[in-house]
Amino acid sequence: MKKVALFPGSFDPFTKGHADIVKRGLKLFDEIIIGIGTNSAKKRYFSLEMMTDKIRETFKDNEHIKIISYDDLTANAAHQHGANFLLRGLRNTTDFEYENTISQVNRHLVGELETVFLITSPELAPISSTIVRELHKYGAKVDDYLPYDLEEN
Ligand code: ADP
Repeated sequence: MKKVALFPGSFDPFTKGHADIVKRGLKLFDEIIIGIGTNSAKKRYFSLEMMTDKIRETFKDNEHIKIISYDDLTANAAHQHGANFLLRGLRNTTDFEYENTISQVNRHLVGELETVFLITSPELAPISSTIVRELHKYGAKVDDYLPYDLEEN
């Protein structure tokens, strides 16, 4: 059976930490679907369209990576797109506490859905979308944290 993983997140923005999880995940899965979760009630800092373009550009040469967006439960999105695994990154114990609960709920929702966790590469662990947004908001340079050029279209 083809191993397909959904890598879900807000990706607001998609960072080098996320890209690292995707690249390492490719050693485990035949296909990775990067799923940008959109919550109609929550306003994004970087638009969905722009982030989709940037992620597409980052992985343009890789036919094993797909990009989708969804406004649904992650487990439903996985089921709908034929993913039998969820891929998540773990940076610290805070991530673990949250992921521990959510992965069990997801498996309860869709019986066969297993979540696979990759521990963050140490040099990328301090990177978070929240920090990148904050830096960007006040005009600081964020290029070091992103796998694409933010200003270029
Ligand atoms: P969410 O809104 O679901 O928390 P994020 O976009 O913040 O989504 O993150 C998506 C996934 O990427 C999560 O599993 C998160 O733990 C992981 N992640 C976030 N930052 C990093 C990083 N620097 N290194 C590795 N994984 C990360």
